[in-house]
Amino acid sequence: MKVEAHYDLLIVGGGITGAAVLHAASRRGLKALLVDRGDYASGTSSWSSKLIHGGLRYLKSGQWRMTLESVRERERLLVERPGLVEPQSFVMPVFAGDRPGPTALGAAFWIADRMAGERTARRIDASEAATLEPLLARDGLRAAIAYRDGVVDDARLVLRLIFDAIDAGAQALNHVDATLVEEGGRVVGAQLVDALDGTRQDVTAPVTVHAAGVWAGAAPGAPLLRPLRGSHLVFARSTLPLRGGIAWLHPRDRRPVFAHLWEGAIVVGTTDIDHPVAEVPATISPDEAAYLIEALRVPFPRFAIDASMALSTFAGLRAIVVPPGEEHMPPSAMGRDTALWARPGLVGITGGKLTTHRATALEVLREVERQGLRVAPPSIAPLAASTATRLQGRLGAAGAAWVAARPVDEQRTLLDTPYTVAELRWSMQHEQVRRLDDLLMRRTRIGLVAAGGALALLPMLEAPCRDDLGWDAARWADESARYRENWVSRHAPPADNRRP
Ligand SMILES: Cc1cc2nc3c(=O)[nH]c(=O)nc-3n(C[C@H](O)[C@H](O)[C@H](O)COP(=O)(O)OP(=O)(O)OC[C@H]3O[C@@H](n4cnc5c(N)ncnc54)[C@H](O)[C@@H]3O)c2cc1C
Repeated sequence: MKVEAHYDLLIVGGGITGAAVLHAASRRGLKALLVDRGDYASGTSSWSSKLIHGGLRYLKSGQWRMTLESVRERERLLVERPGLVEPQSFVMPVFAGDRPGPTALGAAFWIADRMAGERTARRIDASEAATLEPLLARDGLRAAIAYRDGVVDDARLVLRLIFDAIDAGAQALNHVDATLVEEGGRVVGAQLVDALDGTRQDVTAPVTVHAAGVWAGAAPGAPLLRPLRGSHLVFARSTLPLRGGIAWLHPRDRRPVFAHLWEGAIVVGTTDIDHPVAEVPATISPDEAAYLIEALRVPFPRFAIDASMALSTFAGLRAIVVPPGEEHMPPSAMGRDTALWARPGLVGITGGKLTTHRATALEVLREVERQGLRVAPPSIAPLAASTATRLQGRLGAAGAAWVAARPVDEQRTLLDTPYTVAELRWSMQHEQVRRLDDLLMRRTRIGLVAAGGALALLPMLEAPCRDDLGWDAARWADESARYRENWVSRHAPPADNRRP
């Protein structure tokens, strides 16, 4: 483990929040180190619903400020991160008996658009809705809202923030666990232990930011958290041929659900279920899979689809802050606010959204400044609007140029995914890949969007992994067995749930 003994700022947690704090700190004159005990984004930030969205649901509960922040950050990300955060057209059908009806829905979108300063939504009739999404049921369809949101590769967004920060002078280590060290009631740094090679190092810092998501409880002063699981099914687009996204209400509990295009596949989600022990890996349950399939029958009643036809599944844990007296509220009625707290030498942060990561990071840095650390004005201008390609958005300009210069046989896409061997090699050589899982689940999302977790690709990947990562035969055997076991236990589609 190559670290120095002292930093201005230590950040525990390499999800979207820690990554955004590192990114902001690296532009404000702070010598910062981020560590994550797993891979970057391996906590919740690679298992979100992948939407950079306007937070329309907050309007219903009167949380106008959250909607305002969400729509503004969405529009900013679409401009600043092209090729990574991309516009996604959605249709929200309104069937007979649905509440809210098309007028109330149209009004909510109108308010959000006023906040965004951008027209993104319009009411359309049933026949236009069916033209936009031909699979959509016509029976009982009264009208629809056609709108535009954003879609993102969440893990890649985290990686871009971290690697951009590293380029600006910050340091980050994955697979390094941190235990906070306190002296006289003050957090003074952490003991770091590398999870792969066991090396240890103590690091001190005047301020530590604890951004451990649903695992925030280890920090002094952390609020009470209620982990809620949200699960998803991923289908091949040939199985569920949508043109964009559809959002509607679940017939059982009227919760909003969706199906949308992502990395060439279709993501269907999500659920909201208590997951009492955050340490237990989140995996879709048979009941959740059945709930999502039941949801699909509303817009696509004649379309025979089943969970066993999915390419993969994934689930993430929301860090829901429990205000006193609200311990027994139904999961979907719980707020989605961030919690920020301070103790001497420590700023803790948990909860929140991918969409609003930048605003959250700036709030954290204001608290860091209140702890006495000098935070300079940003030294690098904000990202300007650009027309980056998919690869530039995801890998950065240097990565895209490197990939483009690779031989033709490395440029062919793998299985039915958008990824190439050249992209894998870029990650292996430049993006701190330490496990096969890092490569197939987060540097690329092959493990989610290729059939069978791309296990069929493993023999072909052995040579590049051994060349670029220096793995010997035993290490490759261990990594591929570990990947296979993880995929089968956490991401394999469930059995056919049409039968009881
Ligand atoms: C099902 C679901 C769907 C969602 N969909 C969306 C969406 O569509 N759009 C949106 O904007 N938001 C969405 N969200 C919210 C968003 O994904 C989360 O708010 C966000 O990812 C949380 O990021 P984080 O950095 O706080 O936590 P995490 O991503 O969990 O990061 C915390 C990190 O801390 C690390 N860590 C913990 N303890 C230690 C330690 N001792 N030492 C070192 N590292 C440690 C963990 O390994 C982990 O990587 C969704 C959330 C869920 C669960």
